[in-house]
Amino acid sequence: MPNAPHLDFAGMIRKEVGLPTFHAAKIPDVATARHAIAEGLLDMVGMTRAHMADPLLVKKIAERREEDIRPCVGATYCLDRIYQAGDALCIHNAATGRELTMPHEIDAATNKKKVAVIGAGPAGMEAARVAAERGHDVIVFEAAPDAGGQVRLTARSERRREMMSIIDWRMEQCLKRNVVFRFNSFAAADDICVENPDVVVVATGGLPHTDVLHEGNDLAVSSWDIIAGDVKPGRRVLVYDDAGDHAALQAAEIAAKTGAHVEIMTPDRSFAPDVMAMNLVPYLRALQDRDVRFTVTYRLKAAKRSGNMITAVIGTDYSNHTETREFDQIVVNHGTIPMDELYFELKPKSKNLGAINQEALIFGRPQPLGANPDGQFALFRIGDAVSARNTHAAIYDALRLLKDI
Ligand code: SF4
Repeated sequence: MPNAPHLDFAGMIRKEVGLPTFHAAKIPDVATARHAIAEGLLDMVGMTRAHMADPLLVKKIAERREEDIRPCVGATYCLDRIYQAGDALCIHNAATGRELTMPHEIDAATNKKKVAVIGAGPAGMEAARVAAERGHDVIVFEAAPDAGGQVRLTARSERRREMMSIIDWRMEQCLKRNVVFRFNSFAAADDICVENPDVVVVATGGLPHTDVLHEGNDLAVSSWDIIAGDVKPGRRVLVYDDAGDHAALQAAEIAAKTGAHVEIMTPDRSFAPDVMAMNLVPYLRALQDRDVRFTVTYRLKAAKRSGNMITAVIGTDYSNHTETREFDQIVVNHGTIPMDELYFELKPKSKNLGAINQEALIFGRPQPLGANPDGQFALFRIGDAVSARNTHAAIYDALRLLKDI
């Protein structure tokens, strides 16, 4: 049963003065709401983000499909997007706030197809879920032993571990619809073709791109190395971030918690621009109490071995100024390089030569038929397999393409 001590307190006060009790904050799921009412702690529960994550929440309860409710994972992406540009968008429901063009309920397709998805990160899992809801036969190939991709890295942070529900919910939805998963399967073009698919979706993601220095790239590790625990943090760490996303701050937090001195450096005029205000606060709470410094407008140019240390050659985009500093570890966060070899291998065998019609995609219309008469299947590439993007964008790629297939 969920713990909700704040509800006990709120309920007590309201009951004392004989008023009905209504509470509307931090009740993320139906189980917590039900517990609060069943135990007499509240008379009414208000849930906001839970309805944004799944506007069909009440309908699913009424239909006794509670297990189908898309969970709010507490990412606060919705609030960040509201404050940033006024759009109430959910990190893993790309239809929320886009109801004029994107469906919350997926219609069954007229013609059943065979859909092969390569990659079981957020983009691939959304593609598989939507294709399965359309009624297609779906097979997913994943090189890793588990689904999740980069979300698995994100969820290594205690504060963001609920992000894993983005994958877990999709996995449950897929298994209900008999999607076949092949894990530990580094699919080659022949493995795909032998399945005789009508549609192939390449969602193979990307790998960290650390090749950013004039000299000494081999001396740097990636933010993913630190987050995954593959590399132990040093004692004097430079986190060089010109991607501006969560991974740099997550790696910095891991290093700082070991007691390391950490410097987060960016060539931009502000750091981590992709980490919006609501998400930035917990990072800063975790970082500023520790030995962490932020340096903006400086660019790491080269790294040179110097005994047990690494000399960082640092410049700026604004002048010829150059300086050097000593660290024992340089962590680079520069986004990802697409893993797109399979896509290019499959391209000549496809009906559409791997092309996505951008206008149709933007306006939420079905993709046109391909122009290659010898092609065997329609081929699409989504998520980081195209270029680095965040979880929401990867899921949106999948929904807007697969909803019409
Ligand atoms: S963005 Fe995150 S917090 Fe907001 S509704 Fe979606 S899952 Fe919940």
